Amino acid sequence: MNHLSEEQLILHYYGESDDAAAAGDALATERHLEECGECRALYVSLQRVLNVVDALPVPERSADYGAEVWQRIEHRLGARRS
Ligand SMILES: [Zn+2]
Repeated sequence: MNHLSEEQLILHYYGESDDAAAAGDALATERHLEECGECRALYVSLQRVLNVVDALPVPERSADYGAEVWQRIEHRLGARRS
């Protein structure tokens, strides 16, 4: 039996199984995961990574965003340097 690829595991994680073929794949993947500890371990660690990725917020402005903005303004104000 072939082991599952990382790609298959990721697809399985996201449950992309709208069409019948994919649903069959999902079933085969599930069955393989039940039987194969190696792939199950890989899937579990992958799940952990994907959970973290999904939980990540949209990148926020850096903590020194204010300073960056100020620098930009200051640069423009620099014209009136004495
Ligand atoms: Zn396997």
